[in-house]
Formats: sequence, structure tokens, C-alpha cells
Amino acid sequence: MNTYFIKTFGCQANKSDSERIEGDYQARGYRPVRSWKKADEIVVNTCAVRQRAEDRAKGFLLNVVKHFEQIGALRPKVILTGCMTHHGKEKLFKMLPMVDEILPVGEVGFNSKVVRKDKLHGWVPISTGCNSFCTFCIVPYSRGREKSRSMKDILSEVQKLAQEGYKEVTLLGMNVNSWGLEKVGVGFRKLLMDKDRKFIRDDLPTNQSQYLKAKGIPPFVRLLKKISQIEGIEKIRFITSNPWDFHDELIDEIARNTKIDRFIHLPVQSGSNKVLKLMNRGYTREDYLYLIKKLRKKVVNVVLGTDIIVGFPGETEADFRKTVDLAKEVNWKVAFVAQYSPRPGTAAWRIYNDEVSPLEKKRRWQILDDLINKPHLDDRKYLVK
Ligand code: SF4
Repeated sequence: MNTYFIKTFGCQANKSDSERIEGDYQARGYRPVRSWKKADEIVVNTCAVRQRAEDRAKGFLLNVVKHFEQIGALRPKVILTGCMTHHGKEKLFKMLPMVDEILPVGEVGFNSKVVRKDKLHGWVPISTGCNSFCTFCIVPYSRGREKSRSMKDILSEVQKLAQEGYKEVTLLGMNVNSWGLEKVGVGFRKLLMDKDRKFIRDDLPTNQSQYLKAKGIPPFVRLLKKISQIEGIEKIRFITSNPWDFHDELIDEIARNTKIDRFIHLPVQSGSNKVLKLMNRGYTREDYLYLIKKLRKKVVNVVLGTDIIVGFPGETEADFRKTVDLAKEVNWKVAFVAQYSPRPGTAAWRIYNDEVSPLEKKRRWQILDDLINKPHLDDRKYLVK
């Protein structure tokens, strides 16, 4: 019987894709092995969110080559998938000559058989791709435009999980709150800059509620309501949310639906309006604070997490200080703080200069990481009430 090994880098979406790739292998009669040294086929599910993530995948592949050269054996077939596939086949085969086959992320699919690692909690992808085009992000290029999975498919996967004894589900998507919006004709935010770096659609609202009100209950809220009716499911989580799509109806649903987890991950990326605009995030610091206020007012015991990028092109010390002030004001429980690294193919890579030095990025990262992620700061009072 042929054997396989899957090496996964990056975010939860990749881990969930790997569970489905694994299901596909087993459906074809392959057997998993614990070590890649024993596999006939190795799948490397890559991440391209930062250069370091790509370097780790390259390092792993080099180790594979080295090992099989040293023992003088034929190396296994190597299949590469994940966000690095945005480089395109031609470039990838040149960059990584040990790769035999490329599996585009879009071809992993939602409905394949799933081999889950966990027995109580299941990851359920509800959408893939993204239409937001934040200037630093590779996702709209690597995973393509946003595609929502059908309500029917999602509900049937959750029902199956419940029948198998799963109690918790996490709904996964790059921007879960805009699930189903392509069907009602909203939620598409085009890249806002033209080639002269001018913002061409400065007039967009910072929240979609006003559009959605005219259309009835937002699709994502409908989905949450349906999932919470499934017997056996006790806890529902979702990641990730873009503040731009975090509408009032969703806040109300979280407030009244006790099955929805009280931890909300709401990436802010920066506390400076200038930087937020350069990032094409579609909201301001004030919008974000207003959203947090509403959440804290309506959702009892809500706990907040965030993502922040430091050292984005154009981020001055004064801009960085605005993020520090925002951190003190919001008091996130946890933050994934990243040092900006330009991703080839993105708008930021094309248009901006990566001008903040690595040392300075590290300094800013340290300040925010200490401030937000160190436990002794837990007892600070919430300043936004
Ligand atoms: S919302 Fe922005 S950061 Fe998130 S996946 Fe889409 S483009 Fe990337």
C-alpha cells in the first residue's frame, strides 16, 4: 500500500485544507506515515504570509532532498500546495526543482472526505479566497476571489459532526462575515488604488450594515442561527473577521446566541488612519473603536483578540504610537503582532518601499508584544466602555 505524509505550514485554513487532502489520500487507498522519511508521497502545504514562512517550507524541502541524497535512495514524490502556489508553476518549478507537482489551493475543495485530528472540535470551511485586497495580503492572489460554500453543504457537514459526537465547530474563512454576500450583490471591495497611487473609491461606507438592512438578515447571521439549531453542537466559533464587515446584526446575534463563543478575533492591523488607508483596510481607528464599544456594550464577557502589522511602509514613529495608544485603549487579550515583509505580487510590494529597517520593526514588535501579550498586564482596566 502506498504511503503519504503531509507537512502543513501557516494558518488554520491550511490545516483544514490538509485534513481534506488527507481524506482524499485515504479515499484513494494510501496509508499515512508518521515520518516523511517513510513516505512515497510528501505534500507540503505552504504559507506565504511572510517571507519567513516561505523560507521554512524551502528549508523543509531542502532537508528532504539532502536526506535522500545521503542515504542514496530515490526521493518520494513531492507535491506543493498552499499559498506559495500564487508564484505560478513556472517560477515554482525553477525556485524549487525538487517539487514534482503543484496542487492549486482552489482545487482542494470543500466537500472531500475529512480526516480530523480532533475528536470534539471540528473545523468547517465556509468560504475561501477574499475580495478585500488589503494591500499587504497575498490571499486574494493565492486563494483567489471569495467563494462561499453553500448553506446546504455547511449544514450537512455540521450535522454529520454532531452525529459523530463533536460538540464544537469553528467556521473558517478569510473573511467569514461576508459569507454569502456575493449572492446578494454586496461585499465586493475592489482594490482602491490606481496606478498613480490615488485612492479611486474613497466614498465607501465603513460598515456594510446600511446596505444589508435593505436586504433582510445578513447571510452570515442566518448561517449562525441555523448551525446553532443543530442538536449536539454546543459551541460555535468563527475566524477571521474583517471589521469592515462586522455589522450590527452580527453583534446582536452574538449577544443573544449563547452557543457563540465570547472570544472575538478582530484584526485591526494599525491604529493610525494614515496606515490603515495605505493598507486599504476600509475602516478608521474611530470606526474600530466604535465597533469595540458596541461589542462590549451588547455582548456580556466578550474577549477580544487582534492582528497587528508593525513597520508597514510609511509607518512613522507617530503612527506606531497611535497603535500603542489604541492597544492601551482597547486592551486586547491577545495579539498576533507581525513585522511587515513585502509579499511579491501584492499592491504594497508593487507600490510602496519597504522603508522601515528590520531593527526598527523588531523594536516596534517587541513594544506591542510586551504590552498586549504579557500576562502581568491582564488586570488593566478596560478603557473603552
Ligand atoms: S481581509 Fe485583507 S488581510 Fe484578510 S484575507 Fe482578505 S485581503 Fe487578506
